[in-house]
Amino acid sequence: MKKAFVTGVTGQDGAYLSKLLLEKNYEVYGLVRRSSTADVNDTRLRWLNIAGDIKLIDGNLTDLSSLIRILREIKPDEIYNLAAQSFVKSSWHQPLLTGTVTGLGCVNVLEAMRLECPQARFYQASSSEMYGLIQEPIQSETTPFYPRSPYAAAKLYAHWMTINYRESFHLHASSGILFNHESPLRGIEFVTRKVTDGVARIKLGLAKELRLGNIDAKRDWGHSRDYVRAMWLMLQQDQPDDFVVATGRSVTVRDMCEIAFKHVGLELKNHLVIDPELFRPAEVDILLGDASKAKRLLGWEPVVTLEEMISEMVEADLKRLSSSH
Ligand code: NDP
Ligand code: GDP
Repeated sequence: MKKAFVTGVTGQDGAYLSKLLLEKNYEVYGLVRRSSTADVNDTRLRWLNIAGDIKLIDGNLTDLSSLIRILREIKPDEIYNLAAQSFVKSSWHQPLLTGTVTGLGCVNVLEAMRLECPQARFYQASSSEMYGLIQEPIQSETTPFYPRSPYAAAKLYAHWMTINYRESFHLHASSGILFNHESPLRGIEFVTRKVTDGVARIKLGLAKELRLGNIDAKRDWGHSRDYVRAMWLMLQQDQPDDFVVATGRSVTVRDMCEIAFKHVGLELKNHLVIDPELFRPAEVDILLGDASKAKRLLGWEPVVTLEEMISEMVEADLKRLSSSH
C-alpha cells in the first residue's frame, strides 16, 4: 500500500485529491493545523464522505520541526504540498504571512523531505497567478512570469525552490502550474463560488443583489476533480518536471455570472451591483493556459466544462442553503 502525505488536506484540492488517492488504495495522511475550536475543519472531507478514511496529523507548514517529525514517522512515497494562504486579495492584507506560508512553507516541506525521505516524490501547487501581467497571450511552461500580488510572488519563490531542490539534490520534485479550478468545495470568497452562492440566495429569496468588482477579468476555469488527477499523474512519471494544467478556454467573470444566473432562470442585469471596494490594487486581467505538454506526456485531459461545473456549484449551493433554513 502506497503512502501519501497531503498538506492542505482540508482545502478544496486536498479533499478531491484525497478521494482520488483513497480510490487508488493509498494510505492518506493529512496535515492539519490546530484551531481553538478543537474540531478539525473537515467540512469538505465530510462532503466527499472520506473524513473517517484519512489519518490527520497535527502540525503546521511554518513549523519545520513538525514536518520533520511527521515525515520521519510516516516515510511517505508521495508528498503533495497544497497548503497555502491561497486567496490573492488577502495577500495584500497579510503579505508577510502569505510569504511565510505560501513561499517559505514549501521550502520547509522540501527540507523535511530532503532530510527524512529523499526518495519520496514531491508535488508543489504552483499557480497561473505567477504569469500575472501576461508576457504571452497563451501561457505555457516556457512563458516568462510577472507576478502581480504578494500571493503570486510567494508562489513564484516556491516554484523556483522546487526546481532548485530538483536540480541541486536530485529530488523527484514536480511543480504543477494550475490555472483557476473550482468546485462546490471552493472557498466562498473566490469569485465563482461567491457567484453560485449569491445566485442560490437570490433564487431562494434570501438576497436581492450580488456585489462584484472587476467583471471584465478573464480566467481559464476548470474543475478541481479534473485537476487533482493531473497532480497524481505528475508523480507517476519517471522524471520530475513542470506542467501547465488548464482548459484552454478563457471567459470573463461577467460571462461566468451569466451562466450561473441562466441556470436558475434569472437575469444578471437585475441583480448585479459593481462595488469599487472589490477591485484589487493590481489586477491580473486575463489568463489562458496551454496544457499541451500535460496532454502529451501525462495523457491528461479535462472532462468537465465550465457550464457543467457552474451548474453543479449552483445546485450544491441551493441544496446547502435550503437545508440550513
Ligand atoms: P484552499 O484555500 O481551499 O486550501 C488551503 C489549505 O491550506 C487548507 O487546508 C488550509 O488549512 C491549509 N493551510 C493554510 N495555512 C496553513 C498552515 N500554516 N499550515 C498548514 N496548513 C495550512 O486552497 P485550494 O485547495 O483551492 O488550492 C490548493 C493549493 O493550490 C493552494 O496552494 C493554492 O494556492 C494552489 N492553487 C490553487 C488554485 C485554484 O484555482 N484553486 C490555482 C493554482 C494554485 P485550513 O483548512 O486550516 O484553513
Ligand atoms: P484569483 O484568480 O485567484 O484571484 O481568483 P478569484 O476567484 O479570487 O478572482 C478571479 C477574478 O475575479 C479576479 O480578476 C477578480 O478581480 C475578479 N473578481 C471580480 N469581482 C470579484 C469578487 O467579488 N470576488 C473575487 N474573489 N474576485 C472578483
